[in-house]
Amino acid sequence: MGESVQHELVIIGAGPGGYVAAIRAAQLGLDVACIDRERLLGGTCLRVGCIPSKAMLESSALYAEARGKGLGAHGIKLGKIELDLGRMLSRKDKEIKALAAGINGLFRKRKVTRYEGHARFLEPTRIALEGRSGPLEITAKNVIIATGSRAADLEGVELDGERVGTSTAALNYPEVPRHLVVIGAGAIGLELGSVWARLGAKVTVLEYLDRILPGMDAELAAEARKIFARQGLDFRLGVRVTGARATGKGAIVELADDEPPVECDRVLLAVGRVPNTEGLGLETIGLETDGRGFIPVDDAYRTGVPGVFAIGDVIPGPMLAHKASEEGVACVERLVTGYGHVNYDAIPVVVYTEPEVASVGRTEGQLQRAGIDYRKGSFPFMASGRARALGHTEGRVKVLADAETDRLLGVHIVGPRADDLIAEAAVAIEFGASAEDLGRACHAHPTLSEALKEAALDVARRAIHI
Ligand code: FAD
Ligand code: NAD
Repeated sequence: MGESVQHELVIIGAGPGGYVAAIRAAQLGLDVACIDRERLLGGTCLRVGCIPSKAMLESSALYAEARGKGLGAHGIKLGKIELDLGRMLSRKDKEIKALAAGINGLFRKRKVTRYEGHARFLEPTRIALEGRSGPLEITAKNVIIATGSRAADLEGVELDGERVGTSTAALNYPEVPRHLVVIGAGAIGLELGSVWARLGAKVTVLEYLDRILPGMDAELAAEARKIFARQGLDFRLGVRVTGARATGKGAIVELADDEPPVECDRVLLAVGRVPNTEGLGLETIGLETDGRGFIPVDDAYRTGVPGVFAIGDVIPGPMLAHKASEEGVACVERLVTGYGHVNYDAIPVVVYTEPEVASVGRTEGQLQRAGIDYRKGSFPFMASGRARALGHTEGRVKVLADAETDRLLGVHIVGPRADDLIAEAAVAIEFGASAEDLGRACHAHPTLSEALKEAALDVARRAIHI
C-alpha cells in the first residue's frame, strides 16, 4: 500500500449524490474528499445519463420539428433539412465536458479534495484507492457510499456493446439505425427511443407489462402511449423477451410464447438499473445488501456499520439524480447539525419525451390501493390559450386531493413543458397546500401554468374554461 492520508469525511462516488454531498459538507466546515474512478466528475447523470440524453432529446426535437409540418403551420418554410449526426454527438460531448469542469471548479472553490481511482473498504473507515491518484490509503471519521447504479442485464440478452447494448451505447450510435428495438418502455426506453425515432429510425418498443411507464399514473401513461404511438413509436406490450444477440451487421430479438423473432440493426436494453456494490469490499466490513443488491439505510442514511452511510441509486427508492442530491445534502446535514431530511412524498419525476410526462406525489392507483378517498380535477391543454399559441395542445393536467381535507396528494401532467410545470406542484405538496390553495393562487396569463390552476379548481368542479 502506498501513501496514507486522512480526512473527516470521504465520499465514494462523484455523481449527483456524492458531489453534492461533498460540496454541502465543505460548506458546513468539514475536511472532505470525494473519490471517483472516472476522470470526469458528475457520475452516470452527467457522463452517460441525464445530461447527454437531454442534449440528444433537444437536438433531435429540433430536427424533427424542422422536418415536420409544425413549422409550416406557423407560416415558416424551410429548404432542405440535413442531419449532421457527428456534430450533434460532439455538441453533447462538449456540454458534458463543460459541466464536469464546472464541478471541478466547485470542488476547488470549496476545497473538496478529489481522488481519481477505485475505492475499496479495508475497514469501515479505512479505504484503499487504486488508480490515477493511488495507490493510497485513506482514513476518515465517516464514509458515504454514493456509488450509483449500472444498467441491469436480462437473461438471454447478449450485450456486445455494439449491436446489442445499453443506454450508454444508444447515446452514441455512429449512424441512425434503420430499425432499433428497445427492450423496456420505462424512462430510458421512451427517451432514447424518441431520440432515434425523431432522427429517422423505425423504433419498436417491447414491454413485458401491458402498459408503459410503470410507476407513473396509469391513466396519463395510457394517454402518453397514444401520443407516442402517433409519433411513430411501435409499442408491443405484454411481450416477453427471451434473448437477443448480434448477427453480423444486425441483431435478432427472440420472444416467448411462439411470437416470431424481431430482426433489427440495433437493440437497446433498458429494463432498469442495479446498484453498484460489487468490488467495494462491503463483505470485508460486514455490510450486507438487501435481496436486490441495495444498501439498506435508516432515516439518517446510516448503514448497519457505524461510520458508514449510503445515498442515491445505491440505496432503495426512485433512481433519480435529484433524489440522490437531496439525500446527499440531508445525510451530511444530519451528520453535522443533527437535522436534515428528504420528503419522499414530494419528489418530482419527469420523462423528457415530447410532450413530457411529469408527476409528483401519489398516483390514483396508489391512493386506491391505500384506501384513501380522493377527489380528482383535470384540465386538457387543448383548452389552454398558451398551449394553442405554442401549437402544442396534447395532454392534460390531473390533480388529486384528499376528499375530506382537500390536501394535495398527487399531480400528474402529460403536456408541453410538464418538466417546469411540475415544480409548482412539488412546492405546493411540500408546503401541504390544498387544491383550493393552488386554484386560488393567481397565475399569469397566458401561461401553461394556468392549466395547473384550472385542474386544481376542477377538483371542486369550479374550473372556468371547461
Ligand atoms: P451515479 O451518478 O451513478 O454516480 C456514481 C459514481 O460512483 C460514478 O461516477 C462511478 O464511477 C462511481 N463509483 C462507483 N463505484 C466506485 C468505486 N468503487 N470507486 C470509485 N468510484 C466509484 N435521473 C434524473 O433524475 N433525470 C434524468 O433525466 C435522468 N436521465 C437518465 C438517463 C439515462 C440514460 C440514465 C442511465 C440515467 C438517468 N437518470 C436520470 C438517472 C440518474 O442518472 C441517476 O439516478 C443518478 O446518476 C444517481 O446518482 P448517484 O450519485 O447515486 O450515482
Ligand atoms: P425503468 O424501470 O424505468 O423501466 C424499465 C421497463 O422495462 C419497465 O417498463 C419494465 O416493465 C420493463 N421490463 C422489465 N423487464 C422486461 C423484460 N424482460 N422485457 C420487456 N420489458 C421489461 O428502467 P429504465 O428505463 O431502464 O431506467 C432506469 C432508471 O433510470 C430508472 O429508475 C429511471 O428512474 C432512471 N431514469 C430516469 C430518467 C428521468 O428521470 N427522466 C431518465 C432515464 C432513466
